[in-house]
Amino acid sequence: MSLKHTVIFLPIDERPKQWYNILPDLPEPLPPPKDPDDGVSRIERLPQILIGECLKQEFSDQSWIDIPAGVQDLYEQAGRPRPLFRAKRLEEKLKTPCRMYYKSEFYSPTGSHKVNTALAQVFYAKKEGFERLTTETGAGQWGTALSYAASLVDLPLTVYWVRSVYNWKKERLNFMKLYGAKVHASPSNQTEAGRELFRKDPEHVGSLGIAISEGIEHALSDEKTIYTLGSVLNHVLMHQTIIGLETQKQFEIAEDYPDVVISCLGGGSNFGGIALPFMGDRLKKGKEIKFIAAQSEVAPNLTGEYKYDFADHAELTPMLKMTTLGHKIEMEPIKGDGLRYHGTAPILSLLRHKGYIDTVAYPKDEKHVFEQASLFARTEGFLPAPESAYGVACAMDEALKCKETGEEKCILFNVSGHGFMDMHGYDEVLKLSD
Ligand SMILES: *Cc1c(COP(=O)(O)O)cnc(C)c1O
Repeated sequence: MSLKHTVIFLPIDERPKQWYNILPDLPEPLPPPKDPDDGVSRIERLPQILIGECLKQEFSDQSWIDIPAGVQDLYEQAGRPRPLFRAKRLEEKLKTPCRMYYKSEFYSPTGSHKVNTALAQVFYAKKEGFERLTTETGAGQWGTALSYAASLVDLPLTVYWVRSVYNWKKERLNFMKLYGAKVHASPSNQTEAGRELFRKDPEHVGSLGIAISEGIEHALSDEKTIYTLGSVLNHVLMHQTIIGLETQKQFEIAEDYPDVVISCLGGGSNFGGIALPFMGDRLKKGKEIKFIAAQSEVAPNLTGEYKYDFADHAELTPMLKMTTLGHKIEMEPIKGDGLRYHGTAPILSLLRHKGYIDTVAYPKDEKHVFEQASLFARTEGFLPAPESAYGVACAMDEALKCKETGEEKCILFNVSGHGFMDMHGYDEVLKLSD
């Protein structure tokens, strides 16, 4: 394959105008959410928690859903379509026979792919007349993306932020405040779900599951306030398919096609975003593509048990059929904090269960991952977010394996965000200040 371009831009008039909903194309129907045996019905409560249009999309049987013109404008303003890069310098450095391509979700106003669903969700929330938003955030990328999106449509936002991260990411905290968001460390004394844990231990490190409980409880207390979730759910993955759909068109321009698709996986939104359009090609057109999710050994949720579990700590959500480590599990902190979640998006859980997704879990010291990410930065120039570093390392490892076997694979990977606000993490793991 001759190299025509190093950077593949997608002209604005060729941008995708619909998102891809994989639900009708799955190898078997997705098990629906379910209520636990006792307590109030969580499913009946969903309309109080989720934006109407998002709830509709969550169960849609339409393969293609129009991206509203207003959301297309917001996407354009946020820099979409984003370029696809051929990692020429990295290939040379690794001396791999593979062709490596990466999608540049780091070209985002707040630093990650999360703006793709944040912009869609605030658009619908505004249209449906909600006056306030609430959410949770773990690594802080979702909180920042939503703070940005909410400020563009002028909706006030309250964020519950996992304390172990809140405590050290001061710059990201200020970034959210700069966009006008109100931010509480979680567990907080603002909600019942948080208060009990907070009283027992005011320095409780928190978890994504606890923060979700706080955000939902807050939204339930006021009918003009709506909750938003940045990963896991079907509609979130669908909004993120904009990543893979652009990439498919860019591969047409490059006259190439991936053999392997790789990304990091926390709840599954960026992995789903890049992978699902290609998964559609595999399911419908029989394309032979391998999918690999890069994870941490502190949170190998994709290898968890496939069963019904709650999405949050306080059991306020319906139960979802997913690969899960258990909603009460405590996970050790890592710098790639956005990968620490107990469950996996139900769509990806089903595909994993059916054998369509492979996974790699990297050691908790994160040394290899950060070393590979810095080699990527030294050759390609972009600094990946700690979470994205897992996907980058996994793609590089795959390319190095091919060096041994001589296979000339085409490897596509997603760089889900940039690491400008995470130098502290790079410093701690790679000892840059020593
Ligand atoms: C949140 C985040 C992740 C992990 O979440 P997913 O829903 O699995 O994508 C990965 N990378 C970045 C940059 C993030 O902000």
